[in-house]
Order: sequence, then structure tokens, then C-alpha cells
Amino acid sequence: MNIIDTHCHICSEKLLPLHKEILKECSELNMKIIEVGYTLESSESAIRLAATNNDIYASVGIHPSEYTAEKPEELYFRLNSLSLSPKVIAVGEIGLDFYWQSPKSFQYQILELQLDLAKKRNLPVIFHVRQAYHEFYEFIKPYNFLSENAVLHCFSSDISWARSFLNLGFYLGFDGPVTYPKNDALREVLTFCPHEKLLCETDCPYMPPVPYRGKPNRPAYIVEVIKKISSIKNMNISEMSDILYKNAHRLFRIDP
Ligand SMILES: [Zn+2]
Repeated sequence: MNIIDTHCHICSEKLLPLHKEILKECSELNMKIIEVGYTLESSESAIRLAATNNDIYASVGIHPSEYTAEKPEELYFRLNSLSLSPKVIAVGEIGLDFYWQSPKSFQYQILELQLDLAKKRNLPVIFHVRQAYHEFYEFIKPYNFLSENAVLHCFSSDISWARSFLNLGFYLGFDGPVTYPKNDALREVLTFCPHEKLLCETDCPYMPPVPYRGKPNRPAYIVEVIKKISSIKNMNISEMSDILYKNAHRLFRIDP
């Protein structure tokens, strides 16, 4: 079975003590992972991790809730130099998050700056959006280069928003919540979403799927998410996994 987890934070504090075990599990499953940055430091860690392992790729970016007082020009300069590392395959996770109290002016400013970087470097984008779907949609609509070049990670809204972002040419990422018993609404979105636009992720250590709720999530648990997606899509798990794998390679332009 071909497996790729397109959204991990295995360098986060929670998973650091489990690093050896996690990397062993990943190699036993013969899986690939994308380690996603959310600050300058975590982006650097992602690059370092990717440099040690053929099957690990890095994404660099500053999350909207990670407020930093650094000057925008300085952030651009540092992100640009990080993005030149050979294993960097995307800019992200970036976006808007109105759940946390990070200043909105800062969020818009670094979003714009990082979109400029992605365009200049010709890299696909990993978006994080929370409680800001409308504002985010209005903001990114004019960025035509994002078509077929972006994923809305951990999609957590309804069919109508799914349709809007699919119409912009976005991929949608699905995570552990798709396995939660009460989440029929999200499973309906999955039924609606075309196969070729689906990505599967863990966002580990967050949002562990059933039956691992309450534990820190890890990349190997992605199997539970793929199982769920394949049952919703009425396919066998290896067929579904192949599709998800191909989609990720197409978006992130990784050699299969
Ligand atoms: Zn994340």
C-alpha cells in the first residue's frame, strides 16, 4: 500500500521523545511524510529532519496564530532562504485563524507576504483556516496561481464552502475528525469531494483518529483515516490509498 501523510508536526515537543519509534513505524509502513513548519524555528527543524530521510519532505511557513514582532521584510528574507533548501516542497502552513487572539493585521500581512513568496518560488501552498472561511476566501480569490496549487488542510466546514474552494482549484485535506462518531457533516463533505481533489493527513500530534483519541497522534495512525475515507467512498483501502498518494505527488510535485 502506498501511503503519504501530507501534514505532520513530528518535531513538535510532544512527539520529540517518540522520534525514533515514529520514524521506525514510518519506515515499516514504507510511508512518506511532509513535515510542516508553523514558525521559523519549526520550519528549520522540518528541513533538518527531511535532510536525514529520503521519505520526508519539508514545508516552510508561519502560522497565522504564531505572532512574531519581527519585521515583515526580515521574515520574507528568512523564509525565502529556507525555501531554497532542496527538500522544501511547499509554503505552509499559512492562512487565517480568528479562533486564536493573534492580531488580524499581522495575519493578513504575513499571509500576503508568504503568498508572494510561494508565487515567486513557484511552490504549492498548504493553508490553515479556522473560523475565517469567508474572510480567507475573499482574500485569496484574486490569487490565480493557487489553482491546482493549494490545499486547504484539515477541512472542517460544509459542502457549500467545499464547493467554493474546489471551484478555485484547491485540494481539500481530511484528518482524524472524519472518524469521529458525531461528524456526519464532514463525512457528507467527503462524499461530495471528487477523488482527485482529496488529501489525507494526520496533523499529528493533534486530532488523533478513532481508536487513538486521547493519545498524541502520529503518522502511522493515518491508516485509520484512510480506512474511513475508503469506506465512505466505497473503495478498497489500497485503491483509495493509491489515489491519495497520487494526488499528493501531483500537488507537491514529488517523484512517486
Ligand atoms: Zn498543522
